[in-house]
Amino acid sequence: MDIWSKDKRSDVMSRIRSKNTKPEIDLRSYLHAAGFRFRIHRKDLPGKPDIVLPKYKTVIFVHGCFWHYHADCNEGRIPSSNSKFWQTKLSKTIERDLSHQAALTAAGWQVIIIWECELEGKQRLEQTLRSLIDKIKSYGQDA
Ligand SMILES: [Zn+2]
Repeated sequence: MDIWSKDKRSDVMSRIRSKNTKPEIDLRSYLHAAGFRFRIHRKDLPGKPDIVLPKYKTVIFVHGCFWHYHADCNEGRIPSSNSKFWQTKLSKTIERDLSHQAALTAAGWQVIIIWECELEGKQRLEQTLRSLIDKIKSYGQDA
Protein backbone atom coordinates (compact mmCIF):
# COMPACT_ATOMS: atom_id res chain seq x y z
CA MET A 1 0.00 0.00 0.00
CA ASP A 2 1.35 3.38 -0.96
CA ILE A 3 0.66 5.51 2.05
CA TRP A 4 2.75 8.50 1.05
CA SER A 5 2.47 11.04 -1.71
CA LYS A 6 5.54 11.33 -3.89
CA ASP A 7 6.83 14.43 -2.12
CA LYS A 8 6.16 13.00 1.29
CA ARG A 9 7.87 9.77 0.33
CA SER A 10 11.11 11.44 -0.73
CA ASP A 11 11.03 13.54 2.41
CA VAL A 12 10.62 10.42 4.49
CA MET A 13 13.18 8.45 2.57
CA SER A 14 15.74 11.18 3.05
CA ARG A 15 15.22 10.83 6.78
CA ILE A 16 15.82 7.13 6.77
CA ARG A 17 19.37 6.28 7.60
CA SER A 18 20.77 2.86 8.05
CA LYS A 19 23.15 1.78 10.74
CA ASN A 20 26.49 3.54 11.09
CA THR A 21 25.05 6.99 10.65
CA LYS A 22 27.41 9.95 10.70
CA PRO A 23 26.71 11.14 14.28
CA GLU A 24 27.18 7.61 15.52
CA ILE A 25 30.52 7.28 13.75
CA ASP A 26 31.68 10.64 15.10
CA LEU A 27 30.76 9.55 18.58
CA ARG A 28 32.62 6.29 18.19
CA SER A 29 35.81 7.92 16.97
CA TYR A 30 35.65 10.38 19.83
CA LEU A 31 35.24 7.63 22.42
CA HIS A 32 38.02 5.67 20.80
CA ALA A 33 40.33 8.70 20.87
CA ALA A 34 39.44 9.19 24.54
CA GLY A 35 40.76 5.71 25.21
CA PHE A 36 37.51 3.78 25.56
CA ARG A 37 37.20 0.33 24.09
CA PHE A 38 33.82 -0.87 22.98
CA ARG A 39 31.81 -3.20 20.79
CA ILE A 40 29.10 -2.12 18.40
CA HIS A 41 25.61 -3.41 17.57
CA ARG A 42 25.76 -6.36 19.91
CA LYS A 43 22.94 -8.58 18.80
CA ASP A 44 22.83 -10.53 22.04
CA LEU A 45 21.66 -7.49 24.00
CA PRO A 46 18.10 -6.10 23.97
CA GLY A 47 17.68 -3.48 21.27
CA LYS A 48 21.14 -4.11 19.79
CA PRO A 49 22.80 -1.10 21.47
CA ASP A 50 24.88 1.04 19.11
CA ILE A 51 27.85 1.14 21.45
CA VAL A 52 28.65 -1.29 24.27
CA LEU A 53 31.35 -0.60 26.86
CA PRO A 54 31.69 -3.89 28.76
CA LYS A 55 34.30 -2.58 31.17
CA TYR A 56 31.92 0.14 32.37
CA LYS A 57 28.80 -2.01 32.03
CA THR A 58 27.36 0.76 29.90
CA VAL A 59 25.44 0.77 26.63
CA ILE A 60 24.79 3.76 24.41
CA PHE A 61 21.98 4.25 21.93
CA VAL A 62 22.29 7.02 19.38
CA HIS A 63 18.71 7.96 18.59
CA GLY A 64 17.44 9.87 15.60
CA CYS A 65 15.13 12.57 16.95
CA PHE A 66 12.39 11.89 14.44
CA TRP A 67 12.34 8.11 14.50
CA HIS A 68 12.53 7.85 18.27
CA TYR A 69 10.27 10.82 18.86
CA HIS A 70 12.50 13.09 20.90
CA ALA A 71 10.22 15.06 23.21
CA ASP A 72 10.92 18.82 23.47
CA CYS A 73 12.79 18.77 20.18
CA ASN A 74 11.77 20.24 16.83
CA GLU A 75 12.47 16.98 15.07
CA GLY A 76 10.39 14.94 17.48
CA ARG A 77 6.94 15.60 16.15
CA ILE A 78 4.06 13.84 14.44
CA PRO A 79 3.91 14.83 10.76
CA SER A 80 0.63 16.58 9.94
CA SER A 81 -0.14 14.33 6.99
CA ASN A 82 -0.94 10.71 7.80
CA SER A 83 -0.72 11.69 11.43
CA LYS A 84 -2.60 8.60 12.59
CA PHE A 85 -0.15 6.31 10.85
CA TRP A 86 2.81 8.15 12.36
CA GLN A 87 1.30 8.28 15.80
CA THR A 88 0.91 4.51 15.82
CA LYS A 89 4.33 3.89 14.33
CA LEU A 90 6.22 6.24 16.62
CA SER A 91 4.43 5.13 19.76
CA LYS A 92 5.35 1.54 18.94
CA THR A 93 8.98 2.60 18.61
CA ILE A 94 8.86 4.38 21.96
CA GLU A 95 7.30 1.34 23.60
CA ARG A 96 10.00 -0.90 22.15
CA ASP A 97 12.79 1.49 23.20
CA LEU A 98 11.47 1.60 26.76
CA SER A 99 11.17 -2.16 27.06
CA HIS A 100 14.73 -2.64 25.76
CA GLN A 101 16.00 -0.06 28.23
CA ALA A 102 14.14 -1.70 31.10
CA ALA A 103 15.58 -5.12 30.21
CA LEU A 104 19.11 -3.74 30.03
CA THR A 105 18.77 -1.85 33.30
CA ALA A 106 17.41 -4.96 34.98
CA ALA A 107 20.50 -6.83 33.78
CA GLY A 108 22.73 -4.25 35.44
CA TRP A 109 23.61 -2.11 32.45
CA GLN A 110 23.73 1.65 32.53
CA VAL A 111 21.70 2.83 29.53
CA ILE A 112 22.64 6.17 27.97
CA ILE A 113 20.56 7.71 25.19
CA ILE A 114 22.29 10.21 22.96
CA TRP A 115 19.97 12.19 20.70
CA GLU A 116 21.25 13.24 17.31
CA CYS A 117 20.43 16.87 18.06
CA GLU A 118 22.78 16.67 21.05
CA LEU A 119 25.65 16.05 18.65
CA GLU A 120 24.92 19.07 16.47
CA GLY A 121 27.00 22.21 16.75
CA LYS A 122 30.46 22.34 18.26
CA GLN A 123 29.42 23.68 21.65
CA ARG A 124 26.53 21.31 22.14
CA LEU A 125 28.63 18.39 20.93
CA GLU A 126 31.43 19.11 23.39
CA GLN A 127 28.98 19.47 26.25
CA THR A 128 27.31 16.18 25.32
CA LEU A 129 30.62 14.34 25.09
CA ARG A 130 31.85 15.69 28.41
CA SER A 131 28.75 14.61 30.29
CA LEU A 132 28.74 11.30 28.46
CA ILE A 133 32.24 10.49 29.63
CA ASP A 134 31.36 11.51 33.18
CA LYS A 135 28.38 9.18 33.13
CA ILE A 136 30.38 6.28 31.73
CA LYS A 137 33.18 6.63 34.24
CA SER A 138 31.07 7.22 37.32
CA TYR A 139 28.95 4.13 36.66
CA GLY A 140 32.04 2.00 36.23
CA GLN A 141 33.35 3.16 39.59
CA ASP A 142 30.16 2.48 41.47
CA ALA A 143 29.74 -1.00 40.10
ZN1 LIG B 1 16.35 16.05 19.37
